[in-house]
Amino acid sequence: PGAIRLETLTKAYGSVTALHDVDLEVRAGELLTLVGPSGSGKSTILRLVAGLDRPDSGRILVDGTDVAQVPPHRRAVAMVFQDYALYPHLTVRGNLLFGLRVRRVPRAEADRRARAAAERLGIADLLDRYPDQMSGGQRQRVALARALVREPTVYLLDEPLASLDAQLRFATRADLLAVHRDLGTTMVHVTHDQAEAMTLGDRLAVLDAGRVRQVGPPQQVYDE
Ligand code: ADP
Ligand code: ADP
Repeated sequence: PGAIRLETLTKAYGSVTALHDVDLEVRAGELLTLVGPSGSGKSTILRLVAGLDRPDSGRILVDGTDVAQVPPHRRAVAMVFQDYALYPHLTVRGNLLFGLRVRRVPRAEADRRARAAAERLGIADLLDRYPDQMSGGQRQRVALARALVREPTVYLLDEPLASLDAQLRFATRADLLAVHRDLGTTMVHVTHDQAEAMTLGDRLAVLDAGRVRQVGPPQQVYDE
């Protein structure tokens, strides 16, 4: 599960065309990196796939179902934002459990998932901390774990490594690859950094000015 299909997606914000006739397929279980300069439409694609925003035309299918037809709490898509977006008044545990409570996941199951995600991202010893008691890198891991507890079939990552220093970026990249490898979750990862894109992804899709210019394995894209 987790195959995504974007069909002739167009999205404008006022007079700004963020996406123009975008067609793209992400295979089930694939790690696809969307790379392109700032303003090229990368985040817009993620927001549309997550159902946080609607296209002006075209549609998005996840496993054959139009995301617009699925109520938000039923979507098998989880998104991680660049700025962490943690709930400041909740502990790490509270942040991890919040989305599950909304979805009426039984408490024991919610606790099991929270522990598993925290261990996977190396934050199991931080469960009682509040966001302002952690480093930026730790908060980013909590944000990644919070998306993971939902056991999504599609994991959307908006510049998850951008705000981390080199060492943390290396460690977090390894964790993301391990999640991808172990869970087989489809991942769409966004970056404006070409070097970063080369290191993370089965395939790259290169965006420019709201259009997909190239799609393929990293080496092939950069050889063209
Ligand atoms: P990227 O993620 O590649 O930096 P975005 O998808 O965020 O690009 O933005 C694509 C274009 O759409 C940009 O020109 C941006 O300014 C514009 N845009 C995105 N979101 C909004 C919004 N909510 N209101 C107005 N313009 C927006
Ligand atoms: P404490 O008593 O230490 O505050 P709780 O076990 O009451 O810890 O809850 C920890 C966090 O989990 C709180 O944010 C709480 O709102 C949330 N929570 C409580 N019950 C559930 C549930 N069934 N599913 C998901 N989250 C829950």
